[in-house]
Amino acid sequence: MVTHVDYLFEMKKILWDEALSIGDPVLDGEHRQLIALLNRLIDLIDESPDVEQVHQILDQLELLAAIHNRHEEEASAHADVKFSQAQQREHHLFRAAIIEARSQLKPDDPGSSLIDVTESLVTLFISHIIDQDLDLAPLLSQNEVREHSLAEHLTRRFQQISLVRGLEMLVVISLLPMLVFAGMIMHQAWQTASQADDVALLASFSERVGDLAHELQKERGLSAGFLTSDDVAYQISLGLQRKQSDQELAQFSSSVATQTQGDRLSVLSRLAVVTAKHMEELGRIRQEVDQRRLKPENSFDLFTRLITELTELSTQVATLSRQAGASELFQANAILIQFGEMAGRERAVSAAGFGRGMFTPQEYRHLIALTSEQKSLRRQLRFFLNEAAWVEWQQKYDSSEIAEYQRISDYALEQGSGYGVVSLDSFTWFKVATVRINLIRDFQQQLTQNLLNEMYRQRGESTALFMVTVFGGGGMVLLIGYVALQLARSIRLPIMSLTQGMRGLTAGDKSVRIPYSMRKDELGDMVSAYETFRRKLIRTDMLSMGEERGPLEATRHALVLKRRTAEGEVYKKLASIDSLTGVFNRREFMTLAKKEVSKVQRKLDHLAVMLLDIDHFKRINDSYGHSEGDRVLKIVAQSITAALREADILGRIGGEEFAVLLPSTDIDSATKTAERVRSAIEGLHIQVGDEEIQVTISIGISEYCAEEGQIDPAMVRADRALYQAKHAGRNQVCYQQVA
Ligand code: GH3
Ligand code: MG
Ligand code: MG
Repeated sequence: MVTHVDYLFEMKKILWDEALSIGDPVLDGEHRQLIALLNRLIDLIDESPDVEQVHQILDQLELLAAIHNRHEEEASAHADVKFSQAQQREHHLFRAAIIEARSQLKPDDPGSSLIDVTESLVTLFISHIIDQDLDLAPLLSQNEVREHSLAEHLTRRFQQISLVRGLEMLVVISLLPMLVFAGMIMHQAWQTASQADDVALLASFSERVGDLAHELQKERGLSAGFLTSDDVAYQISLGLQRKQSDQELAQFSSSVATQTQGDRLSVLSRLAVVTAKHMEELGRIRQEVDQRRLKPENSFDLFTRLITELTELSTQVATLSRQAGASELFQANAILIQFGEMAGRERAVSAAGFGRGMFTPQEYRHLIALTSEQKSLRRQLRFFLNEAAWVEWQQKYDSSEIAEYQRISDYALEQGSGYGVVSLDSFTWFKVATVRINLIRDFQQQLTQNLLNEMYRQRGESTALFMVTVFGGGGMVLLIGYVALQLARSIRLPIMSLTQGMRGLTAGDKSVRIPYSMRKDELGDMVSAYETFRRKLIRTDMLSMGEERGPLEATRHALVLKRRTAEGEVYKKLASIDSLTGVFNRREFMTLAKKEVSKVQRKLDHLAVMLLDIDHFKRINDSYGHSEGDRVLKIVAQSITAALREADILGRIGGEEFAVLLPSTDIDSATKTAERVRSAIEGLHIQVGDEEIQVTISIGISEYCAEEGQIDPAMVRADRALYQAKHAGRNQVCYQQVA
């Protein structure tokens, strides 16, 4: 960080610094040429030039500036309008300053007017490079990578949006599939649950229908008995049965009312309402039975009509339930209800035949039809029961009680044909037939119950899945969102503080502290780097405050505290500083060297060492005296300092010998630096007494080698190189390789 403006006030030449490079060889080259011309003007100030000489240089400057400005404007063709406008404005200003310079030249004393003129040109030029041209560097590199790859394209896209917005986008994008997936699971669970609900509703309705049919079957039998016999027992039983039938009917009607609510099952509810309406006929039938106005077979038919309607309704339920995905069991249920009804009719028909001692032809035909229909129903049942249920059914149906029924039923079919006489106790028949009907009925009820249980289980599972998805998925989304937002925040806050801090430093406010330096990540490093920079600025400011021109003016390594006492100004020199030159003394230099070595060891970086010795210094002492020699030493030390970078460490390690540590510098850069130092010293014109003298230095350089672990071998090599330089004629740079 060479402060060019400082040089200007002393009218020293401008030194090219790599920090001014914008990375384009043509533009950098032109900048160098312009600097050379400006330096030429600076030289002329002391040379009492004639006007013609100055005009010549101003002409060259104008010509070169015109060419160079065009090049710069071409290079920034892709920049935004604001940048281009500012650029053109500054270029125009520089041209105007040259024209102004011509008019300000005093023909009689061009040297004195040249000071102002040159100062304004140099200020304009250097400020233009720093404020404007350095912004060209990213533009130029952007032009190079234009349209390269998708990755680069995306990277640049992402640089356009805020970091936090980008992170948020990333979170949303990665959460989206999860949300869709959760939605699908929830939908599925919801569907299953409501399907299970439908099936459960159908099953319980089906149960009601079966129960009602069963009660009406019993009432049918007792009504027939009441009509054929005067036995009071029949009258009492019928009365009790009617109560049971009514109870079941009431339950059926109320479940019909429930069906009408859901619109999914609207078909069913319409059917159920019609059926319930038809059941009102029961009252009329009972009235006629009570008045004994009906023949037993007519009463049987009327009841049978009602029961048939119920069995058909259960078949409808089975059909409907197919849509809800549970048709098989419903079908089996409907078949069993119908089976029970056929068995009930067979019981009634055969009971009449056995009671009379013979079958009428009509009864016999009816009996045959019922038997074959039951066979067919049993076969159908096979298809709608799963394996386990079928086995269970078979076991129940093959029991000895059923065998007894089978025997009597077969006997009735054999004997009853052709008006044959049957001699069997009607009551015995009634008993075995009832056992079978109850068995069918029980099995049917068991099926319905199983179905209901299964549906409740399914609904429970689906509801649980639904809940887990809602709370689990929702929780996950919230958690990820929270973590991502925290992450975004933890990145944004330090960056915002850093931006604020850097702006503060630029505006001269060094008070912004950033509280994130304890972080272990990259941002922590960044904050530490900021903090180091801030403290360095504070230190520089504090220690150079109020200094007038003196030995420390250009000596950035000097750490001198100023203290006022009653006697006047006394400088307290720190033990680490060489009192003559203001650079580090030998001891401090060696301590710092150790530190640098350990840093290199950690970072695997380069480190170069440079030894400098003034050529034929003894002669100066001899010719002008020791104190003039001291003054020369001081000036040389200042010039070396000015030619070095901020990070370089300069120490006076002997009488007129200096050493420099160059951190993060390989041998090539070190050679360049050494050359720069050498030529800077060579260019010095030092006033000694009435004379102006020039001095030269010889430089030996070497690179530190990580295997060696300490600085000394590198120093030895640098010393050998220095010896070589002296031997080869002085005023040159030599280099010794690691053996
Ligand atoms: P060479 O180029 O070969 O190095 O020639 P030289 O004359 O510089 O030889 P050398 O390095 O051996 O001599 C160093 C001289 O520098 C010796 C001494 O008189 C002088 N010198 C050393 N320290 C000081 C100092 O602090 N002040 C002054 N004025 N002179 C010093
Ligand atoms: Mg010497
Ligand atoms: Mg010497």
